[in-house]
Amino acid sequence: MKQDPTYQAYRPGQHPHVFSDIEQDPFADRKKLPEPSTCRDCGATYSKGNWKWGITPQNTHPTICSACKRIRENMPAGFVSIQGPFAREHKDEILNLVRHFAARQKTEHPLKRIISISNDGHGQIITTTDIHLARGIGGALQKAYKGELDYQYNHAEYLLRVRWLR
Ligand SMILES: [Zn+2]
Repeated sequence: MKQDPTYQAYRPGQHPHVFSDIEQDPFADRKKLPEPSTCRDCGATYSKGNWKWGITPQNTHPTICSACKRIRENMPAGFVSIQGPFAREHKDEILNLVRHFAARQKTEHPLKRIISISNDGHGQIITTTDIHLARGIGGALQKAYKGELDYQYNHAEYLLRVRWLR
C-alpha cells in the first residue's frame, strides 16, 4: 500500500494492508443486486437504486450490504483522525458531536455508519463504512470548532483519510 509520507504521523494502525485486496469500488456491487434485496444483518433494503430503512418487501432477496460487510471484516472506507490539545481537552464533547452527526446520517443513508472509535496514541480515530461519512464528520468538526482539516483520498483503494487538528 502506498503511503503519502506526510501522513505517516497520523496513519492509523488498523491493518491498512487489507485494502490492497480491494480491486474495485465495493459500491459497484450494488449494480449486481436484484431488487429488492434486504440485508440479513441490518435489515436495510435496496430498492429503486437506494438503500432504505423500514421497508420489508415481499419476496426480497437476502444479501449482506456493503456497510455490514465492512463492519464484519473491519475494513473501513473512511478514517477520521482527531488530534491536538483542544481535541484532548474536549474529547467527550467532540465525540458526542461525532456520534450525533453519524446517527443523523445513518437515519437517511443506511450505508453510512461508524465502525469504531478508538485511540491510536496520537488521538481519537473514527472508522467509517463510507468515505462521505468520514468527510462529513471532518466538516462538522471544523464547522463547530474551526481547527485544521485535511484529507487524503486513495482512489485505487476507495479509502479516505481525514485529519482534524486543534
Ligand atoms: Zn447491512
